[in-house]
Amino acid sequence: MKFTDFNLKDTIQAAVAEAGFKEPSPVQKDAIPLVLEGHDMIAQAQTGTGKTAAFGLPIMSMMKADGSVEGLVIVPTRELAMQVSDELFRFGKLSGLKTATVYGGTAYGKQIERIKQASIVVATPGRLQDLLMSGKIKLNPHFVVLDEADEMLDMGFLDEIKNIFTFLPKERQTLMFSATMPNGIRKLAEQILNNPKTVSI
Ligand code: AMP
Repeated sequence: MKFTDFNLKDTIQAAVAEAGFKEPSPVQKDAIPLVLEGHDMIAQAQTGTGKTAAFGLPIMSMMKADGSVEGLVIVPTRELAMQVSDELFRFGKLSGLKTATVYGGTAYGKQIERIKQASIVVATPGRLQDLLMSGKIKLNPHFVVLDEADEMLDMGFLDEIKNIFTFLPKERQTLMFSATMPNGIRKLAEQILNNPKTVSI
């Protein structure tokens, strides 16, 4: 199978070709069509399986690039935030989709300015909660992704995540990626996902 078999818009297809991706990885084969159909999803996938493109390509393909934040990706660490942002930037640049990276331990001003320009925000839970609770930013993303969800629970971010969701729209498409599926993850999935499709590779 090829990337051109997916119903991704031309500028996203061009970015995939530019990235040199030849064949979709297993998680991409399963996830991309489900996401394009508008389903919520829970996917069991490890790092290195191509999960960033598995959620990034379809959600970016559906974005309007209207200047608002249309997608929010929540990740456990600053390192992963930067890595995911780099990957999404590559896929989105031909579509006019900008990415803002948000994490703690650094000044607010520049991050807030970037968020105002961005279509996609990639954030760690602590700083994101901070920005939302203080009213420094308002977000209305249609697409919400929890990446490495088990890692976030292991790091003690459950309360932050639940609180963050109280600031997000109820009408949304939510995707959850986790390397493992312990009870805590299943319970969180029940709370934030709506009729999810399951992908396991
Ligand atoms: P990830 O699991 O999203 O962190 O991706 C791991 C690495 O694989 C990244 O460097 C991606 O750019 C790369 N990658 C993802 N999907 C593909 C693909 N279909 N073909 C080639 N490389 C890929």
